[in-house]
Amino acid sequence: MKNHVLAILLGLTLLAIAVQANDVARPKGPEEDGTLPALVKIAGEGTMDSHAFEYLTELSDEVGARVTGTPSGQKAVDWGLVKMKAIGLQNVHAEKWSMWKGWTRGAAEAELLAPIRHPLMIDAMGWTGSTPVNGVEADVVTANLFDLDEEIQSAGKFRGKIVLMSPKGRPKKSFDAIFAQFGDFLRAAHQAGAVAVIGGQGGFKAEGMHLTHTGILGFAADFAIPVVDMTREDQGQLERFLGAGKTVRVRMNVQNNFTNGPVESANVVGEIPGREHPEEIFVVGAHLDSWDLSEGATDNGFGSASVLAAADAIVKSGFRPRRTIRFVLFTGEEQGLLGSLAYVKEHEGEMKNHLGDIVLDFGQGPIKEFQLGGRGDLLLAFGPFLRALANIREIQVSDKIEIGTDTAPFTLAGLPGINLDQDSPDYKYTNHSAADALEAVKPDVLTQDATVMALTAFWVADRQERLASPWSAEKTAKMLRDKGEYDTLKSFGLWTFGELGAEPTATN
Ligand SMILES: [Zn+2]
Repeated sequence: MKNHVLAILLGLTLLAIAVQANDVARPKGPEEDGTLPALVKIAGEGTMDSHAFEYLTELSDEVGARVTGTPSGQKAVDWGLVKMKAIGLQNVHAEKWSMWKGWTRGAAEAELLAPIRHPLMIDAMGWTGSTPVNGVEADVVTANLFDLDEEIQSAGKFRGKIVLMSPKGRPKKSFDAIFAQFGDFLRAAHQAGAVAVIGGQGGFKAEGMHLTHTGILGFAADFAIPVVDMTREDQGQLERFLGAGKTVRVRMNVQNNFTNGPVESANVVGEIPGREHPEEIFVVGAHLDSWDLSEGATDNGFGSASVLAAADAIVKSGFRPRRTIRFVLFTGEEQGLLGSLAYVKEHEGEMKNHLGDIVLDFGQGPIKEFQLGGRGDLLLAFGPFLRALANIREIQVSDKIEIGTDTAPFTLAGLPGINLDQDSPDYKYTNHSAADALEAVKPDVLTQDATVMALTAFWVADRQERLASPWSAEKTAKMLRDKGEYDTLKSFGLWTFGELGAEPTATN
């Protein structure tokens, strides 16, 4: 009898332990982890009393284009500080950082002189140079974007010419690698005496609709040679003339200004301090800076308004998360993630207390996927949370890495740099173009994205278990190599791990 009781008790105990262990392993969603009441309130504030579109309208109309390091860039920073204070965030401040060189756009005009005559639509790429004051007149020759090795070697043929980048054959390298090598090509062409280059971001052609797209041509890189983007329609015609063996002659006048030395910028920072672990921080961010052909409503006013609206919804909910949510409007993203790199450097000692960051920066569409920046270990944890969002929006999760925005510095620090990937089919037209205006944004989509951002931020910061801690440099380096990011990071000067992660870790 006694033995039976003992056996039963032992059996029950083992069952309880098993259930407990299972319970720990099985990730919990908002219904089980205690975050649901707050999330319900935040969703209500974020949708029925949203200020997201109002923030974006103000940023677009009252601040407008805001290139990092310019007076309008500073105006955006001041605007961000005022907004964060008005929302009721704590510890609102600007964190200054310095950029290697400032740049402002001047005139950019071009005219086709032969074989027919008409104006050509061009705009200068960011941080590129000028023609002589009265412009230049020159014949146009092509360079094969898909064989830059060869073009760099034979750059002498570009002396006195305007070079038109034109892809021929199949690319031998990834687009990231071509983007990186395009900078080397520009330096070679300049040295050889080319007078200007027609080629957009990474040397690639514009998307059409008679739009040009500006942008930087490397990470914190500037070029003395004038580089312009031409509309797809005009460039296509030049390519047809050249293909038919006709002489193409163009007059071009491009005037830009570099500063003599470094210029200052600042990230805008504000917090909702955690109620239990204020020292542990989850960053919610987007970049405040834009290009200057328009007001940057989709890149990345949309993300900036989302960050502010997310903060607003959480503050108004009256709920305080366990850990601190730090809202950051980064600057210098467009020149090579300069603001977010500066943030990680500035907060080096604090990075061990960070849980990661979440960033929205892919245009004007609804969120379609959480990309966890190589942190495959967190995929399971997001499952129940995303199921809880399913009636708002069906969202996927992956461990993809996005190094093209302010997620990258966090990923490099071993943390989940979480990219909110969006379904934005029109973004290829609005990205860095004159069409990047408020008209491209739908208020309901913005409101929904901002609300998803708010819900995610609160859930991550408030759930009982800490979502993530930084991986070691070794583990991070290995993950990045395994994911095939080494070459790209190396070519952009972002690989800081040396030989780490190159050898399989010894196991005993
Ligand atoms: Zn952007």
